[in-house]
Amino acid sequence: MNRAISYIKTFALWELFKGLAVTQRNFFKKSITLEYPDEKTPQSPRFRGLHALRRYPNGEERCIACKLCEAVCPALAITIESEVGKDGTRRTTRYDIDLFKCIYCGFCEEACPVDAIVETRIHEYHMEAPGENILTKDKLMAIGDKYEAMISADKAADAAYR
Ligand code: SF4
Ligand code: SF4
Repeated sequence: MNRAISYIKTFALWELFKGLAVTQRNFFKKSITLEYPDEKTPQSPRFRGLHALRRYPNGEERCIACKLCEAVCPALAITIESEVGKDGTRRTTRYDIDLFKCIYCGFCEEACPVDAIVETRIHEYHMEAPGENILTKDKLMAIGDKYEAMISADKAADAAYR
């Protein structure tokens, strides 16, 4: 009996009309898709995108080369070298993040005791030449300097959630 019904449905194009009914039901509804990149979905202040190294408002770099971020990184994406300066402060002489290794877990940001390394909401970036996957200290500081206003606003919004 079931087989007979199935045959009848097949010859009556049942599935096709069922599909067209769904199309008709949704045809005049507001579209739920977006015309990316002209339209974008809202982003959380906790979005984990491109990394940045931050400074204090007086311009001093925050990172104290404690290497906690390097130790916690599950992808071994961070490489740090450091030295103690004449003023007795320890600073990084090398801070590299390999974006090809990074899994954007945010552990480095969580581990940092001075909010130096952060993940920004920047997610639209690409590499064109070999080696551009390495974010050097200079690049990280430049990103931090450029987007500090956005980073601080996101930090404040995130703190309000907690
Ligand atoms: S986001 Fe995760 S994987 Fe990427 S550098 Fe930080 S700790 Fe490593
Ligand atoms: S970024 Fe933060 S956790 Fe990493 S070495 Fe600097 S101070 Fe330590």
